[in-house]
Amino acid sequence: MTQNVTQTPIVTPQSPRLPSIAITGGKGGTGKTLIATNLAVSFANAGKRVLLVDCDVENPNTNILLGKSFDDDDVKSEPVMIYKPTFNKDLCTQCGLCRSSCYLHAILQFPEHYPTLMEHMCSGCKTCERICPTNAIEPAFRPIGTRYFAHEVKPNLDLMVGELIPSEALSAHIVENLIEWAFAPAHSEKYDLIVLDSAPGVHCDVEKTLLAADIVINVTEPTPFGEHDLRRILELLKLVEKKSYVIMNRANLTTDAQKILDDVTSSALEYVGKIDVDRTLIEDYAKGLPFVLDPRDFPAKTQFLQIFHTVEKILSHSTNQETI
Ligand code: SF4
Ligand code: SF4
Repeated sequence: MTQNVTQTPIVTPQSPRLPSIAITGGKGGTGKTLIATNLAVSFANAGKRVLLVDCDVENPNTNILLGKSFDDDDVKSEPVMIYKPTFNKDLCTQCGLCRSSCYLHAILQFPEHYPTLMEHMCSGCKTCERICPTNAIEPAFRPIGTRYFAHEVKPNLDLMVGELIPSEALSAHIVENLIEWAFAPAHSEKYDLIVLDSAPGVHCDVEKTLLAADIVINVTEPTPFGEHDLRRILELLKLVEKKSYVIMNRANLTTDAQKILDDVTSSALEYVGKIDVDRTLIEDYAKGLPFVLDPRDFPAKTQFLQIFHTVEKILSHSTNQETI
């Protein structure tokens, strides 16, 4: 693993924007990362230059499914930094304005004492620096996570993974950083498609990921948990106003699939297909092999390839491209 310790400036996404798909799920364990990885590999196999971005920064594992370790020599790493105010005692008058202005109460200050930062509570908003009447607050930065980049993890497929330092809380800042990096203007020449593997659940990391995508694919399963979490994510999808689709994973696990599909059809979601439980798929998963690269034919792979062709058409239609 090579490490670059300089801070990369964040670049704001601009047009023309790369086509993008986000894969999400109302809860962990539905097969979201499995689908994201195999979709990315399938597009790459079809000749597209794909960037897969793992936005599940508290539990990233796309690299494992692609047989890549963060410790490999060809993986580049870079810290994700966040602003942190530092207090210059020579200039500070102990006025207390920074403490009273901090909306997160991240500044501690006792009467006639200098302020102290509780850095894990600080979002890096810079309000305190802007408000200080004596310019006693100076900028510094601290790491909250790491970005890993691997070129050609598979032919035509690059991988970017974000990872939050376990004791840190600002996961959304890392997701934002990954998305801004992925959609940098320079990448519109380099890639044809971005596949975003979202965190599971319904929170700001997921919202940031879904907002970046042209289309959103939810992976669910026919269990009471799957049904419950699909309903929750429906609420979020209404807010982000994205065209959204559903894949039913482990569709033959229970007899509840139809009940969930009824929910899907009565909502703004569109059903794109199912994948049944399949022993060969599980074997490939255990080996860290994207199952679309397994030379054997088996029912789940056939089902997935049908889904892939449907997603190709949906994306092509949604981005108004003849081919993507
Ligand atoms: S606002 Fe500036 S001068 Fe006032 S306490 Fe904070 S750092 Fe010191
Ligand atoms: S940067 Fe923002 S959150 Fe952090 S201490 Fe200053 S005002 Fe508070």
